[in-house]
Amino acid sequence: MLNIVIFGPPGAGKGTQSEKMIEKYNLCHISTGDLFRWHTKNDTELGKRVKEIMDNGELVSDDITIAMLREEVEKNPQASGFLFDGFPRTVAQAEALDALMKSLDTEIHSVIELKVTEEEVRKRIAKRKELEGRVDDADDKLDRRIKEYFDKTVHVLPFYDGQGRLSTVNGLGEIHAIFASIESLLDEHVA
Ligand code: AMP
Repeated sequence: MLNIVIFGPPGAGKGTQSEKMIEKYNLCHISTGDLFRWHTKNDTELGKRVKEIMDNGELVSDDITIAMLREEVEKNPQASGFLFDGFPRTVAQAEALDALMKSLDTEIHSVIELKVTEEEVRKRIAKRKELEGRVDDADDKLDRRIKEYFDKTVHVLPFYDGQGRLSTVNGLGEIHAIFASIESLLDEHVA
């Protein structure tokens, strides 16, 4: 198995690089943001509980998020690996993810941080807003989501760094060049 976590602020290019990783390494993509968006769009019980929190660009509670993630992992017992995107965002979530991987007799093999400046992130999101019209990309919410990343999510990075599991990749530049950096990190795990 090859299990990866990808980190980066909104608009860092996680979606683009994730698609390429999924294809090359045959991974099951689990994006907690996409899952929450699916639930709100389909007005499920869970969707109703998290809609306002998401609309405000705040983080959903660890309990709800971890339970949803665990369910999604358990739905895919045949997966040859997972790519976690948007999760973990807190140290409690990171610890829960390790426990979940251990229960499946596996582990997180690589944690990749896509490093992008705030200025570049804002430019990219403005473009995405035009193309996709995502509600949570509205300006005030976007500010909160970016702030959320730089104030809170980044605190998960030292958790992985301290264990020697964190790799930082420059997220600025050509898509294929960024992916080449990611490949050089991951290929050693599949050799
Ligand atoms: P994203 O597309 O990953 O930025 O996620 C969109 C929204 O979903 C976030 O602003 C949060 O409200 C919620 N969300 C996604 N992943 C998590 C997580 N790991 N923990 C808490 N809330 C999350």
